[in-house]
Amino acid sequence: MTYLLINTFISLQFLLIYNSLELTNKKESLTESCTTVESDLERFSDNKTIPDEIREVALEALSYFPDLRQTEIDFQFKKAIHGSVMQAQPKISSLFFSSKKTRGYRIKISRELVLEDDSIPIEDLPKDVLLGWIGHELGHIKDYLDRSALNLLGFGVRYYLSNTFITEAEIAADSYAVAFGLGEKIIATKNFVLNHEKIPLDYKKKIEKLYLSPGEILSMVDNDPEGNQEEN
Ligand SMILES: [Zn+2]
Repeated sequence: MTYLLINTFISLQFLLIYNSLELTNKKESLTESCTTVESDLERFSDNKTIPDEIREVALEALSYFPDLRQTEIDFQFKKAIHGSVMQAQPKISSLFFSSKKTRGYRIKISRELVLEDDSIPIEDLPKDVLLGWIGHELGHIKDYLDRSALNLLGFGVRYYLSNTFITEAEIAADSYAVAFGLGEKIIATKNFVLNHEKIPLDYKKKIEKLYLSPGEILSMVDNDPEGNQEEN
């Protein structure tokens, strides 16, 4: 029953987001595709701060999100983030002192992916996996864009308190990433985490419990009539 409800919710959420994006996507996909040369990707760097190690892949992920072209986003390496590998948040100061349009965001990124008895620098992850991971975080920021400051403060509190709310927020982030053409990368990221022998079991369990499965993402990609995941 819960499974059915969640599935219905996902389908509705995705259809809603997909429909609202369809028009922009069609327009943008003509001009934004084929961005494989590094200098070409630099046009997605306005108002962004990105560590050199992940600059190219972060800019490539940004190339899928035309709505974030002018948005201020700082990608920040952290030694460790409690229970997460990456986290996207509005900058607290800009919640109070900026308008929606000029609000800034940060994406915290663990410097290393911690394994059971080892760790790997984040930039050494397979490219598609990193692209999907960063794309998911950009999906969160896309979800934050039209929310008021008060709504975002409430969002933070509810995310902290309720597993159901976490799942809804994660579905929204994945839905945006899929709608913008990153479906296959999102699946690559999830498969990487769930199938990796050395990723701690606690983290895998959290991902299995609160996030969409690779199969659920695949059904969203299959529902995408334009096959946008192929375009970049
Ligand atoms: Zn997330």
